[in-house]
Amino acid sequence: MRAVIFRGVGDVGVVDVDKPAAGFGEVVIRVKAALMCGTDVKMFRRGHPLVRPPRVIGHEYSGVVVDAGEESGFNVGDRVAGVNSGPCMECGYCKSGRENLCTTLDEALIGFTCDGVFAEYCRIPKRVARVNLLRIGDELPFEEAAFLEPLSCVVHGLSRVNVSQAGEAAILGSGSIGLMHLQVIKHRNPNARVWVFDPHWEKLEKAVRLGADKVVNIREEDLRSYRRGFQLVVESVGRVEAWEDAVELVDKGGVVLFFGGCPKGTKLSLDTYKTHYEELTLLGAFHHTPRDVKQALEMIKTGRLKLRELIGAEVSLEEIREGFEAMIAGRAAKVLVRP
Ligand SMILES: [Zn+2]
Ligand SMILES: [Zn+2]
Repeated sequence: MRAVIFRGVGDVGVVDVDKPAAGFGEVVIRVKAALMCGTDVKMFRRGHPLVRPPRVIGHEYSGVVVDAGEESGFNVGDRVAGVNSGPCMECGYCKSGRENLCTTLDEALIGFTCDGVFAEYCRIPKRVARVNLLRIGDELPFEEAAFLEPLSCVVHGLSRVNVSQAGEAAILGSGSIGLMHLQVIKHRNPNARVWVFDPHWEKLEKAVRLGADKVVNIREEDLRSYRRGFQLVVESVGRVEAWEDAVELVDKGGVVLFFGGCPKGTKLSLDTYKTHYEELTLLGAFHHTPRDVKQALEMIKTGRLKLRELIGAEVSLEEIREGFEAMIAGRAAKVLVRP
């Protein structure tokens, strides 16, 4: 079968590899739709601590089961979507309902520590197939179902926040993650007024189309002059300046959700006076639990999220470099890969 192999920084290409077979508890899917995300781009440009090349990459996907291992619970022909990991269900975090923090999550991480979905076929490891691979029914388009992984992360972050109380919410960053936060907040609380802050007009225009009540171009206006009653601020940029802006922007008693990951070792300069006397809640958010994944699928099935609007380019495996270039140049929030 054909697959995109990551060989090292800036070096990806299509090669012929053996088609995988399903072992006990595993399934093999024919990948129908895969999405490229910021993490793939970071890996392409700088490498990734968990990825030892050569590795088939890609971790956001949907497809059809073509080989179902014993006790996998799936049948050949099932239409499915899944995420990139599966919790062990045995460690302390898993037992206390915080499966996103499972101590052995990295052992079978699709597209990182085992082969990914930028390929014709992908073997879904047992621990993923057991809890985090879901049937999507006959109707749902594959390209929408492929949003399951990133949307599960967004659902997880917002599960830490009382969205129904967020009268005025601010989102820093109008990339795919920021725009998914916008849509999930609006879905959960149609009365929330959501502001989106970003330095690029094209991205802000997309935010308006997807339901933002107000957008601010932070290249033209001082973000910090917009302190006005934000009870929720979501940081979805992944730069420490944005983390600091988020704390500046949030109102007394409000919540900051730090969603965008910064490089390891990054330090934040925090206003302790404001944090203390204004009783701020500062939250990290990482990955997803099986509950988040199920909720994300239900949300996609409602058809009310405009996920396809986020796809700015569509490529074949052979065109994968064009996909990376479209992401890097900011021409696409997401790139759809059709293996
Ligand atoms: Zn991703
Ligand atoms: Zn665990």
